[in-house]
Amino acid sequence: MAEVKVFPLCCVVQSYAWGKVGLDSEVARLVLGGDPQALIEEAKPYAELWMGAHPKGDALIKDNRISQRTLGQWIADFPGCLGSKVKDTFHGQLPFLFKVLSVNTALSIQAHPNRELAARLHAQFPEHYPDNNHKPEMAIALTQFEGLCGFRPMDEILGYLKDVPEFRALVGNEAAEELQSADGDLSRTSLALKKCFTRMMNCEKKLFVDQLNMLVKRISEEEAADKDTSASNGELLLRLHSQYPGDIGCFSIYFLNRIVLQPGDAMFLGANEPHAYLSGDCVECMACSDNTVRAGLTPKYIDVDTLCEMLNYSPAPVSAKIFPCVRDNADPCVYLYDPPVPDFTVMRIQIPASLQQYTVSALDSAGILLVTDGEAVATSAAALSDITLTRGSVIFISANESVSLKVTSSGMTMFRACCLL
Ligand SMILES: [Zn+2]
Repeated sequence: MAEVKVFPLCCVVQSYAWGKVGLDSEVARLVLGGDPQALIEEAKPYAELWMGAHPKGDALIKDNRISQRTLGQWIADFPGCLGSKVKDTFHGQLPFLFKVLSVNTALSIQAHPNRELAARLHAQFPEHYPDNNHKPEMAIALTQFEGLCGFRPMDEILGYLKDVPEFRALVGNEAAEELQSADGDLSRTSLALKKCFTRMMNCEKKLFVDQLNMLVKRISEEEAADKDTSASNGELLLRLHSQYPGDIGCFSIYFLNRIVLQPGDAMFLGANEPHAYLSGDCVECMACSDNTVRAGLTPKYIDVDTLCEMLNYSPAPVSAKIFPCVRDNADPCVYLYDPPVPDFTVMRIQIPASLQQYTVSALDSAGILLVTDGEAVATSAAALSDITLTRGSVIFISANESVSLKVTSSGMTMFRACCLL
């Protein structure tokens, strides 16, 4: 069986409470597309689809002629499938986890440590930091996708400190004035911003709960009177408060950019970048790690000291947070999302209606291919038989194998995760 190197996968659904429910969820719709027999429960959240070999969600191999049951078992038996460079660099492991997310309510505000900090945190607090790897992430919107990402430009933060007295009360006048007077000086700005954020995160629970209640009451009254609440970011504040009442994370919307991605737009979350996903569906790729430092919108543990120490306090406009994709010179159907980390690259393959034949090219890396739109029959010298691809199909492609598609729909969209070293 060792010669079989391309095969279909049946991927694992995670039904976290924040996920979209039933067929509102793109995850559920893709599962049903890939397997018309799948039972979708109408009241169940379908939050994440895991396409990879992570021990908490190892994909099943969808071909009973292959003796290994899961992708992880198969890679352990045939590590050469990763490609020689990937195999050596990542010690025989698939270096990334590929996902689809369907977000109904906000996920926690968080940041991920770089490798050095991850190793230190894991050694000190293994109960909170389960491994010593970094966890860069990239989200590519499938539908309109909303999140928080990075610190806002200074004028916006100063504007909220002026217009939202409840927020200013948590930061304190001294830190707020320091931020105001630092304007223009990059290193002073960054230090003052750190001080403001740290003050807020460290303030007493009673203080921030009282201020949050006052803020919610004020915005609600303004809304009832048909007033414009945009100077207090009213709509988002009320929405997050309804999802996480009394949570310090509600105030972070005054520090962090609100980003709205259109389908195909991406954001890359490098080390120490504060972020949260708020709503919508996306494809996500990340390095294999579970190291998350939380900052709010969560009932879970918040390590305030580590968080405040690690963050990247560089104000930037929201436009700077959209990660550019690049059309591949060698293949005009491919759009590359290639972040500045070695662990993964994502390709969006957009086959126009005019093409009936397409070859998914061989790479010196194992890859996982997800079909989000369209249909084709896939053939490969390394597959046991032809594979019918529909919306929701996921296949594993070993390094140095290509796959020929006979496209039977009018156009096709696929996402391929791989590791281009
Ligand atoms: Zn994250």
